[in-house]
Amino acid sequence: MSTDKQLTLTETIDHSRQGEYLTLPFSVIDDMEEIKIELDFTDKESNVIDLGVEDPNGFRGWSGGARKEVFLREDRATPGYNIGELPEGKWGVILNAYRVPTVCSVTVKITCIRSKRRWYKGDLHLHTNHSDGAYTVSEVVENIRYADLDFLALTDHNTFSQNFQFPVVEDIAIIPGVELTTNKGHANFYGVHQPFLDFRCRSIEDVQGKMDEGITNGSFYSINHPHCQYCPWEWGLEHFDINMVEIWNGPWSEANQKTLDWWDSQLKQGEKVVAIGGSDTHREHKKIKYGFPTTWLNAWRHSPGKLVEAMKSGRACVGRTPASPWIEIKTMDTYMGGSYPRVNNLNDIPLEVEFKEKVKGIIKVITDHGTILNEAIDSQKVYYSNSISSDSKYVRVEVWDVDLEEPIVISNPIYFD
Ligand SMILES: [Zn+2]
Ligand SMILES: [Zn+2]
Repeated sequence: MSTDKQLTLTETIDHSRQGEYLTLPFSVIDDMEEIKIELDFTDKESNVIDLGVEDPNGFRGWSGGARKEVFLREDRATPGYNIGELPEGKWGVILNAYRVPTVCSVTVKITCIRSKRRWYKGDLHLHTNHSDGAYTVSEVVENIRYADLDFLALTDHNTFSQNFQFPVVEDIAIIPGVELTTNKGHANFYGVHQPFLDFRCRSIEDVQGKMDEGITNGSFYSINHPHCQYCPWEWGLEHFDINMVEIWNGPWSEANQKTLDWWDSQLKQGEKVVAIGGSDTHREHKKIKYGFPTTWLNAWRHSPGKLVEAMKSGRACVGRTPASPWIEIKTMDTYMGGSYPRVNNLNDIPLEVEFKEKVKGIIKVITDHGTILNEAIDSQKVYYSNSISSDSKYVRVEVWDVDLEEPIVISNPIYFD
């Protein structure tokens, strides 16, 4: 994360001020993602200085003498500090000069990180011991960190208790979720603690009811592994106005290929469906591992709300492993997930493709006219001038590994409408 503002406040406290509460003011500008505060002072054997924070609305949190470092974000914060928006205005570091036998020099370092679009990678499908997974939520969070991922979604089967037992971690965003697990298919709901009251579905109408309830409550859902040989979607994909589809569940497979083909057929019909992926990890397994596949999201902040917003707007791509690069596609001034106005008499449209880093494989540029480009690449950026016919409904890109015969990364589309 790039640091936008760092400042250091100093104060010398002598014995005469022992027992006083002091406030060191600092100002915060609009649209902050995170505020970190680090306290240091001389002679810690003798001096005791307590730490707290106030925001423009008043008291925000207190850690006394227990901590020298605290952070605040909209969705998570050091225990002892309230989570919530980081309002613009006058903030203050609260100090308590609890014990100062002679004199104490205090230094407070404040780091403000401004919100900015960045790429984050994570696993959107996994289970904890709140359903049939082997690990606690805390263990899963540790595993996600170990897998070099930035976020995870808790998608236990039919229950919500996992969403109320979050550990607080600075570097991992935790998206609340649930896997609606019916006897005829599964769907993940993301973004809210309890998208529906009760999972039990006995009919298509019931399933539609859960989807409507989820949407009303601020959630966004994906149909999971619809062509899985064990748990396929048997409610009929055609009955629903589908938000998202899990085109890649666990290791690449024939079932995933079928879902990829089904997704493409939806795009051909002019539907807008966001493609995502998830590992569906339950426990230690040779092939089913966190981040296999990884979903990259281009989000305004590293918070569950902004990550779900990125999913909703199709600012997402799916890579084979946590080491797979993100892909960004752009035509004119429209990026992946966006819509570009279709003008049928225009010349063909250019396409820019960029990856996080250099990628070697076969690139496929796909529209409703089929695979219009299929060639080897070994680069970080590609530009195709006049490549897409102007009557296309969408364009999307896949990069394949020739040796493994599986995708390295799959983009979401840009739509023309
Ligand atoms: Zn499932
Ligand atoms: Zn699952």
